[in-house]
Amino acid sequence: MHRGTGMTPNPNNKREYIMFKRILLKLSGESLQGKQGYGIDDERLAQYAEQIKSIAQRGVQIGIVIGGGNIFRGLSGTQRGFDRVKGDQMGMLATVINALALQSALEAIGQPVRVLTSIRMEPVGDFYNPAKAIRLLEKGTVVILAGGTGAPYFTTDTGSSLRALEIKADVMLKGTRVDGIYTADPEKDPKATKFAEITYDEVIQRGLKVMDITATAMAKENGLPIYVFNMDVEGNLEKVINGEAIGTLVKP
Ligand code: UDP
Repeated sequence: MHRGTGMTPNPNNKREYIMFKRILLKLSGESLQGKQGYGIDDERLAQYAEQIKSIAQRGVQIGIVIGGGNIFRGLSGTQRGFDRVKGDQMGMLATVINALALQSALEAIGQPVRVLTSIRMEPVGDFYNPAKAIRLLEKGTVVILAGGTGAPYFTTDTGSSLRALEIKADVMLKGTRVDGIYTADPEKDPKATKFAEITYDEVIQRGLKVMDITATAMAKENGLPIYVFNMDVEGNLEKVINGEAIGTLVKP
């Protein structure tokens, strides 16, 4: 059973323990934009790269799906008159731009990393296939899975559920700007409270905006646990790997 819920010894240091051996980390495009409201914030990018490298060094195998909302979203494109399919293709290409930025930031600090794309575009990245991704992960290479699912009408959240299952990740870690899932938007409702755990069904029934329904349903149908946490606080990714309860776990 690949879905480890217990603690796994860190192969590089017998005294340290890691909660998850293989993860799929979802980063939204929006969080990459930092304070500037558009595009890529260099500081945020470097901070993400450091956090990723530090858990890779502890032996965690890391697949990353990155969004494109900081550059283009198909749905907002249609409001401006773009054809939906073309708009979504533009969105998927935006995720590739972000993937290359993250690859470059990881390489700059000496972390082995490869970009695999769901749409053929060598030499930008190799064409994705799950076996290749798993081979790279087993060698300790961080793998960035760019281009979402490769199909329009999906989001990178759904791409994350799909890729997490394909690469047999123990968990999908959704790094966001908030520290978990709340009963209501904590920025609008001061009475909103945070869930430590929640079921997939409750996320869907309450209409919580943490992930789209397709992504949540796919995780539910295949028993993929999702952990939502604030990736913008330095060191938080490491805390999640250590098993610290800093976010919200979505489970059956
Ligand atoms: N997209 C798509 N198919 C996919 C993944 C993404 O068509 O499988 C497009 C879609 O237009 C989406 C955009 O790429 O709006 C950017 O992805 P997303 O909105 O998920 O990015 P995030 O919100 O995570 O920044």
